[in-house]
Parts: sequence; structure tokens; C-alpha cells
Amino acid sequence: MADMNRRVFLTGMAAGSSLLATSGLPSLAESHGGRGFSVPPGTPLENGFQSALTDPAFRPLPLGSVRPGGWLARQLRIQADGLTGHLDEFWPDVGESQWFGGEAEGWERAPYWLDGIIPLAWLLDDEALKSKVSGYVEEILARQRSDGWYGPYPADASIERYDLWAILLANKVMVQYHEATGDERVLAAVEASLSALRDGVRRTPLYNWGKYRWFEGLIPVFYLYERTGDAWLLKLARTLREQGTDYPAIYAGEGITHPTPRRGLWTWDKHVVNTAMAAKAGALSWRLDRSPADRSFPTEMLKLLDRYHGQVNGMFTGDECLSGKNPIQGTELCSVVEFMYSLEILVSVFGDPTFGDRLERVAFNALPATFTPDMWAHQYEQQVNQVQCTINPDHMWTTNGPESNLYGLEPNYGCCTSNMHQGWPKFASHLAMAAPEGGLAIIAYAPCEVQFRSGDVSVSAKLETDYPFRETLSLTVDPEGTTSFPLFLRVPGWAAGATVQVTGEAAAPMAPGTFHKLDRAWSPGTELTLRFPMRPKVTVRYNDAVAIERGPLVYSLSPDEEWTRVNADQPHRDLPHGDFEVRPESQWNYGVILDPAHPEDSLEFEERPVGEKPFSPDGAGMSVRVRARKMPRWGLAHGWAGEIVPGTQEFDEAEEEIDLIPYGCTNIRVTEFPQLRD
Ligand SMILES: [Zn+2]
Repeated sequence: MADMNRRVFLTGMAAGSSLLATSGLPSLAESHGGRGFSVPPGTPLENGFQSALTDPAFRPLPLGSVRPGGWLARQLRIQADGLTGHLDEFWPDVGESQWFGGEAEGWERAPYWLDGIIPLAWLLDDEALKSKVSGYVEEILARQRSDGWYGPYPADASIERYDLWAILLANKVMVQYHEATGDERVLAAVEASLSALRDGVRRTPLYNWGKYRWFEGLIPVFYLYERTGDAWLLKLARTLREQGTDYPAIYAGEGITHPTPRRGLWTWDKHVVNTAMAAKAGALSWRLDRSPADRSFPTEMLKLLDRYHGQVNGMFTGDECLSGKNPIQGTELCSVVEFMYSLEILVSVFGDPTFGDRLERVAFNALPATFTPDMWAHQYEQQVNQVQCTINPDHMWTTNGPESNLYGLEPNYGCCTSNMHQGWPKFASHLAMAAPEGGLAIIAYAPCEVQFRSGDVSVSAKLETDYPFRETLSLTVDPEGTTSFPLFLRVPGWAAGATVQVTGEAAAPMAPGTFHKLDRAWSPGTELTLRFPMRPKVTVRYNDAVAIERGPLVYSLSPDEEWTRVNADQPHRDLPHGDFEVRPESQWNYGVILDPAHPEDSLEFEERPVGEKPFSPDGAGMSVRVRARKMPRWGLAHGWAGEIVPGTQEFDEAEEEIDLIPYGCTNIRVTEFPQLRD
């Protein structure tokens, strides 16, 4: 607190861009490929303090700088009109949370919900949502104790130890609110809380959730440090790291290389949500001291996860501990949204485009698939081969319960009910980031409009596209006056033959798996066309089954569906929440006939209009026709799609043509198909 006099709190909206604009970074290394950018340590803060943190390669823009357009705007509106915008109105664990002075849950659930609804409200600029959020933040502020602890912190925590995870989470939420509003009382609350935390971890070191999620604390710590320059914050960051789980040590051994056996073998090390969150630990830690091990670990970690637990939708399994490559094993929704946020931080810090590829794969496949198209119900677990979702006592989950893949309000457990909200909004707010030299980087592609400042010039960049359902994107760069800055375009690793064309100029090739740098003078209304050719791809997966991909999308058979309301959860005050079973109404047990070496010869893709609900069976913007035969012997086992037998198989059933749609548009599906001999 001694530094209070010279402190300059940078206010929310201006902070991110002005930090970058004054950074004076040297030129980037020539290569902007898979290993990412080379960036210098330390940016002078606006108050003249020399930051000891290494700058991220790209800095996320202040909340509200990226506005969704096209299908993405529709998707965020669906979310706001669905469970996210209304959860507090009827679900006690949020509406009557101890964080807000109620008697219900006082741990992670209310902060989780705020972590998603804050960016949603500001991305949509929805006054009603913003005012709702502000009311709850006021409740948190009003209940902060004079010693800095937030309301739910137990009075006897000095006698009985208290797991600090929810405090780390709450501060991450509060800095997001500060960024959106510039409310200095909120930053002061974070400072008081982190100061209490500094004393708290001296008394009681991190354990359990706090220990496994220590790096989440670095997010508010860095945010505050970059605005105050107070050295004790970096000391706190190092203390959290010292007390926290050493993930590289877990991955150096054989700790995660086997599926978790059934029943009773739940482990912290293999917990799928911890795993998804920890993917960013190396990136945050690297900003402290640029350790080469921190830089390489996230990539190594993902390689191991893919090898032992990877799924074609971009995720790894976990129900709720890592559970192998079988497409019926399932992935928890919390891990989907947490992995997306980790990837957003990874691509920001390291500037490595492969993390952007991965982010799109999860965002366009795993994320939407696990919600009903209206976003009023979600699953706890989604399966890649998921042919029905029923209350299933005969299930084969490792530790989860019989309702885990129902669509509902809180199937199995309510963590996902509170944590699911951050997926789409954070994806939208991280689509573009500030880049060195006053530039802009496009991290992931979806329709949006970005407002940023390059030096003293205000610039708008508008991306119009139905990507990922189309391969062409229109980008209008519109500075208020002609100005020069570099534009970095992520070129997906799969996009061989990618081009960018400034209207009136020749198309230029872009190398896949890089950030393509366009360093030039931009005049108002400059139009560009980006083209990312999407070639069909067939991958051989678990037990020789095949999956069909094209660009960032995976394709699945979507059987006709029968929905049945189950359980006691009934609509409340006309809000359409509820629990549902889904059963197939048409046949799903097909094997496919194709030549994996020349898949384009056996696949016929067709563009369809992108629907009002972009991720629904009816709204699917693409389809693919494939030759197939029914497999009468492939049926249900344990209430799920039976496990696929390895090898190419022969069947005498008549050949048919079946249509597949994007995985993210399906509610029940077959994605990994047995291969049939032609
Ligand atoms: Zn969850």
C-alpha cells in the first residue's frame, strides 16, 4: 500500500490498447510460424513503471472492442435469451448465492456464472444484462470484509483451513468487470482481496482445488500489476506457483498415459477440468521468467493428451478423469469451455497459430454440440458417438452418474450449469487482438467488427463471413484516415492454397500454419478477400474407425430425434428449462465406404443456408453425402452405441447414400464410423 501515492490506475477501456501503443516493441522475428513469435520482456506501463512481465505476443483487446456479427451475433443472442440470461431468476445456487447475501452455495457457482455473463452482456451491449450484472457485483463489493476477504470466506478460516480456489476465480471475474466498466472500486476490491490472499497462503498453503488451479490466480495478479506496478504482486504470483501443482512433473511420468479405470479411481492429476485449465499454466508462468520449459510444455502436454485421450472434436475425454480415446467415453462441458479459454491465453502469449486452429476446432464442434440449439439445456458429458441420451443406470462412465449425458438444467452435477457461460463470449472477445507496432491480429474467424487504435488513429475492421460453413471471408479495414500498421492473419494449418486479396490487387498466397503479416498503408474502406480452401479429410481413429473432416468442422450422422421430458425440473415462470432424454428415431448403425487416400472422390459436400440457430440439425450450413451400408450387428451396448470392432468390415446390406452435418449442429450423432470394404 506504500505505493498508493504514485499509483495511476489505468481505466478499463483505454488500458489494453494504450499499453501496446506505448510499448515501442522492436520488429518481430521473420518467422511467424508454428513456434510463435519472439517478443521482448517488459513494457513500460503508462505510469512509467518498467514491467517485469514479458509481454504477450498479442494482447487481448479491452472487452467490448470486438462486437459479434452475422451468425455469431445470433448465437450470443440465443445464449442471452437462454439459460445464461435467466439462470439467476430461478436457480438458487446463483440467485441466492452467499456471494450476493443469500443462503445457498457460496463457493464457485456464482463467480462461474459471472465469468460468462459479464463478457456476454458487454459484447451484446445489452443494457438489461449489464444492469443485472452490475447489481450482483455491487452485492459482492458490499460484502467484502475490512480485512479484504470476500463475503463467503469463513470466519473460522484461520482455525479450519479453507480452499482458496473460489477466491482465485472471483478475482479473475472482478478484473473482467473492471476492464468492461473501468469501475475503480472493483480494482481496489481486487487489490484488497489479493493482499488478504498473500497473507492467507502464508498461513495455509494452497491445497486441493486451489493447488491444482493456482495459475488462475495469476490472471488477476498480472492484471493488477500491469496497472499499478506493485512488486508484491509478482511475489504473490511466484508463491502461488511454488505452492501449486507441478504439471510438467505429472506429464513427465506415466501419470496420464492410461484411461482411468472404472469406479473409485478419481484423481486430481487426471481430473479433466483441471487438465483443460492447466493447458495455460505454462503460458502464464512463462511471463514471469521466460523459462524455455514453460514455453515448450503446453505443446508437449497437448501432444500427450491427444495421443492417449484425444477426440476428433478437438477435446480429450474425461468423465470426469481422463478416459482414453474411445468415442463413447465422453467429455465434460466445463473442460470444453476451460480448454477454449486456455487456448485463447496460449495464442495470446506465444503467438502460435496452432493454438488458434485448436481453438476453432473446439469452438465449432465440441462447444455447440453439447447444448440444445436454444441453449436452455446442456449436458454434463458429450460423446463423439452419442446415439441416445437417457437416464442410464447401465452406463460405462468411469466416475460419473447415470444422468451425465441428459440434456438438462443440472444433469449429474451443477458445475457445468454455472461454468458453461464463458465459452461463446470469451471466444468472441478473443477473435482479434492488439499486435506489436500498432497492429491487429486475427486469432480466429467468425463474423465480427473490431474497434481498435493504431497509434493515434481509430480503426474498424469488419469481418463478414459464414465461416466455418464457408471458405471465403470479406474483411474491411476502415481507419479514420490513411495509416500504416501490420495486420496479422492466422492461416489455419489445414488451409493449403490460402490466399488474401486486397481489392484491385493480385491475390497473394499465405502459408498454412502461420500468421501472415500484411504490413502496409491502409486507406479508409480497404476491402480484402480471404480464402481458406477446405479440403475433405478422413482420419483413422480408435479401433480403425474413420471420421470425416473439412476445414475446422467434423461431420456426423444426425439421426431423427425423439425428445422426452424427464425428472422433476419443470418450467418455472414460463422459462423453458427442463431435463430431456433424446432417442434416435431413425437408423444410426451405418458403416461408410470411402477411400481414405482420396476422400474427395467419395464425398460430396453441399452448402446450405446457415440457419437462425446456426448450430441445430435444421440450421446446419453444410452437409456431406457419403456411401454407406447398414450394419445390423452394430447395436446398443450398456445403453450406448456399441464399441466399434477394429478392422475393415464386410456387410451384405444394400448400399445407400447418407447425409452428414457438422458435429456442432447435432444433438445425437455417429461421428466415428466403421470402415466397410468397397
Ligand atoms: Zn462441469
